[in-house]
Amino acid sequence: MRWIHGIAVQGIDVDAQTRCRHWHGATDVVALRMKCCGMWVPCFACHATLANHAAAVWPVAERHATAVLCGACGGRLSIREYLAAPAACPRCAAAFNPGCAKHHHLYFALTPAERSRQPSATTTRCRPDG
Ligand SMILES: [Zn+2]
Ligand SMILES: [Zn+2]
Ligand SMILES: [Zn+2]
Repeated sequence: MRWIHGIAVQGIDVDAQTRCRHWHGATDVVALRMKCCGMWVPCFACHATLANHAAAVWPVAERHATAVLCGACGGRLSIREYLAAPAACPRCAAAFNPGCAKHHHLYFALTPAERSRQPSATTTRCRPDG
């Protein structure tokens, strides 16, 4: 666990900007709050390792919830704000990893239109190594 801009982020090898053992590139600076338990995590793999329950996703009706933390500036974003512009922080313009879009469905329920626009997870270079 690590305090990042006033939020306790729980993950494996978390750095000061929310990178973790699984995602530690320059642009991996987003932490997410899980719907199931309220835990802030750098990624779904950290949640899977640390939580003793299955992850739940935020329903479309709860897009107003504050569930995204920018590790660069500490900005707390609503799900709506984040999904509207997932490539960079709307507060500080720090670039976010574009590959994260492949995993949005692991955190947020997506509308059919959003799912059809989502990049395929099968081509991901995701490398969670537990
Ligand atoms: Zn959970
Ligand atoms: Zn992780
Ligand atoms: Zn920011």
